[in-house]
Amino acid sequence: MDCIFCGIVAGEIPSDKVYEDESILAFRDLEPQAPEHVLVIPKKHIPSLDEMSAGDGELVGHLVSKVRDIAAQLGLGGGYRLVANNGKDGQQTVQHLHFHLLGGRQMTWPPG
Ligand code: AMP
Repeated sequence: MDCIFCGIVAGEIPSDKVYEDESILAFRDLEPQAPEHVLVIPKKHIPSLDEMSAGDGELVGHLVSKVRDIAAQLGLGGGYRLVANNGKDGQQTVQHLHFHLLGGRQMTWPPG
C-alpha cells in the first residue's frame, strides 16, 4: 500500500515519535505550523473521517482521549488546537486519518 503514514507506522519511513501504543502513533509534523505540531494517527489505515467504519469509533475515541496526555507531555498547559482536515475542501493531503495537535503559541480564528 502506497501510504506515507503506513510507512511510518511500519518503521520504513523515519519519524520523530512522541507517543505510541498498540493502536495509535503520534509524531512531529515535517512542516510545523506552531512551536509544537504533532500528528496523531491510528495505526490502522483509515483514509479519512468520511471512510471510518462503524467499528472504528472505539479506536478513534481512544485516539482523541489520548490527546490530552500527549499535550501534557509536550508542555501545552496553556491550551492547544486539534484539527482534522477532511477531503478536498478541507485540504487533506495525506489519505490516512490524522489529527493535527498544534500548540505553543496563541491560535487565531477563523482558520485559513
Ligand atoms: P493534511 O494536509 O491535513 O493531510 O496533513 C498532512 C500533514 O502531513 C502535513 O502537515 C505534512 O507536513 C505532514 N507530513 C507529510 N509527510 C510527513 C512525514 N513523512 N513526516 C511527518 N509529517 C509529514
